[in-house]
Formats: sequence, C-alpha cells, structure tokens
Amino acid sequence: MKFEEYNISPEVKKSLEDQGFKKPTDIQYKAIPNILNGEDVLAIAQTGTGKTAAFAIPILHKMTMLYRVKGVKAVVMVPTHELAIQITEVFHELGKYTQVKTLGVFGGVEQEPQIKKLKQGVDIVIATPGRLFDLVSQGYLVLSGIQILVLDEADLMLDLGFYKDIRDLLRFLPRYRQTLFFSATINEKIKKLAYSIVRNPIRIQISPKDPVSKNVTHSVMNVSMDDKRYFLERLVKENPDKKILVFVRTKVRAERVFQAMERVGIKSLTMHSGKEQQDRLQVMTDFKNGVFKLLIATDVSSRGVDIPNVEYVVNYDLPDVAENYVHRVGRTGRGTKRGIAISFCSEEEKPLLKDIEVFMDKKVDVSDIENAEYEAILATTEELNTNWKQLMRDAEFEASNRKKKKK
Ligand code: AMP
Repeated sequence: MKFEEYNISPEVKKSLEDQGFKKPTDIQYKAIPNILNGEDVLAIAQTGTGKTAAFAIPILHKMTMLYRVKGVKAVVMVPTHELAIQITEVFHELGKYTQVKTLGVFGGVEQEPQIKKLKQGVDIVIATPGRLFDLVSQGYLVLSGIQILVLDEADLMLDLGFYKDIRDLLRFLPRYRQTLFFSATINEKIKKLAYSIVRNPIRIQISPKDPVSKNVTHSVMNVSMDDKRYFLERLVKENPDKKILVFVRTKVRAERVFQAMERVGIKSLTMHSGKEQQDRLQVMTDFKNGVFKLLIATDVSSRGVDIPNVEYVVNYDLPDVAENYVHRVGRTGRGTKRGIAISFCSEEEKPLLKDIEVFMDKKVDVSDIENAEYEAILATTEELNTNWKQLMRDAEFEASNRKKKKK
C-alpha cells in the first residue's frame, strides 16, 4: 500500500512526496493505521527502520484537525539533545504544509528562547525529560491537555537515568491519553516501565531475529592493532566521495586516529564526550552537510542520530558492549539506502567479536585478506612512505655532509 492511499491529510501527503517517501517501511505499515485508530502502541524497533515517521505521520495528521485547540497536545520524550533536534526536524519537514507547530526543548542551552516560543503557542513538543520537567515545574509548559505521549528510545532513557524524571512527568499528564512506546531493545526493566504506562497496546516487533538491517553488508577483517590506521587510510583514499563514520573506543583514540589521518593528508572530524555541546552540534552539521566526509567518533553518536547518506561504518575498535555493534552499524543503510560496515578486529579483540556474535545469535562474515594484499596496504601508506622518503633524504644529507667534511 502506498502513502497516497492512506487516510491522512493532503498536506502531510505532499511533504511525504517531497521527501521521496512512497511506500511505508515495515514499522510504518504496522504502526500508522493503529495510531490513527487511537490505539496505544508498544514497539521494539531500532533507528534506521523509519520509526520516527511511524509516529510523526499520524501525530501530524491528528494535529491538523486540532491545531485550533490551544496548548500543547502531544509530547515526544527522547533521551538526548541530538535526538530532540533530529526528531524536531522530521516534524518540521513532514509538517511544513500544515499549520501545526512543533518545538524542540532540551537542556544545555538557554531556556528563555524556548519559553518565548511556548508562549506563542505550540502543538507538539519534542523534549529531553530533564528540561521538560524544569519547564513543567516552573509552570511554562502545561501537560494537562496532552492527548498523545511518545517515549522514544525508552531503553536509552533508562540507561541514562531518566526513570525518575519520566515517572515524575507522568503525574502531570492526563490519565486518558494515547501512549506510544518505542524501544530498540527489551528487558524486564523496560517491560515494567512500558506496561505501567500503556493500555492494551498493539505490540510491534521489527526484525527480532537479525538486529542488523538487511540493507547493511557487514563483515570483519583481521587487522593488527598497529596497522589499523593504514587500512583506514586506504579505505578513505579508495572512496574519496563517500561518507565514512569511524567508531573508536575512547576519546583519546579518536584524537589519535584524527592525527594519524592528518599525517597522511586526510581531513576529518572527531566527536566524543570531551567536546562542548556547541562543538558537537557543529561537527554533526559539517558531517551531515558533507563539508567533511570522515567522522571519527566514540559511542556517544552511535545511538539514534540519523545522518543521511553514510556509506561506510568502520568499527576501528570493536565495541566493549556487544549491543553497540548493532547501533553502530545501524548508522548506515538507513531507510531504503544500502550501506557497508567493516570491523577491524585485532587478535586481542577476538573475545569481543565472540560476544557480538552471541548477542546477535549469528556469525559475522570474515573478509579474508591474503598476506600479499595486507603487505601491499602497508607498502602503499603515505605515512610509512613519507617516513621512508624522509629517512632516504636524511641518509643522503648525512652522506653528502660526510663527503664535504672529507674534502
Ligand atoms: P529513523 O528510523 O526514523 O531514524 O529513520 C531512518 C531513515 O529512514 C531516515 O533517514 C528517514 O528519512 C528514512 N525513511 C523513513 N521513512 C521512509 C520511507 N517510507 N521511505 C524511505 N525512507 C524513509
């Protein structure tokens, strides 16, 4: 069934057309009609499945009939600033032909401009729980008129310690409302939270067996720790037009890889928890817009954030937490696009690979490289060649100095 056949407002259909969204993804196919019907939904789905539009489309449609009613009528709670910004963008894009007003509220920035916008009238709020709680308790945001509540990436919200904020916020919400609960993973704690806030939900689970999207070809390459930078250099140089997202274990490693790339003439960006919020936003913008095509990041950016057209994900280091493998490779192959993920696995990381395979209940293909090819990669790196050329120059210089002295 195509979007044109859906019973949704023509303004939303028009923006879907602008986006090039013709057919619903799996989660959209299962969720949209139920949300339109007013059902509660409990969905286990990762990002990359099109889950944001799965709730944004029906919510915007409902709001096109309600925007004349004053006050905030829908709240989407998300774990991070980046996600709040991204989801607000999706609502703005899909709602651009409607009269519906969406506002993102999150911490780390001044609250005054957010309060000013709230006073001007807002229909949908996308918020991190902390800032939402602040605004509600100061009386700037009233939740008593909420008809729809969405919890997105609920598992990450719990991991980040938002359980109490969420529970406190629920007290301000009307009991009779529609609740949509989205989580990438499920465990006892998440189930407990979910069932305490939804009523007879429609349950939707997307690709439970293979958590890696079928749009992503992922494999592992045996590379020793010290040689990883040469393999990354080759990949970047062989794919100059492609967007490549590289994951490393720590912020120190991120800066080291950045320097190693700089030594061989490759420009890149880094993203990790050591960066200021403002820098992080700038980095994301530059990478999204393709100003820089190589981003070296720690796991801070492996969850939720949607960066268009990332062709390659490189696990420069394997993740310590097996689940993060799925989140990392999920940064590529988004929506209907295809993507490639490569993991550089050193001898000492083999146990981590095993954990990942156990988590996925699936082996990761090994991309075999012959000894000769491995040697060839080392032989062509600019860093070693530059060093080698420098050594030759130094030797020649010394030899000519010696000759001069003899004369
Ligand atoms: P999400 O899982 O919400 O982060 O969405 C992942 C990506 O899928 C985003 O880049 C969306 O633009 C894209 N997307 C969502 N719905 C569709 C659709 N029906 N057709 C094609 N792409 C889509």
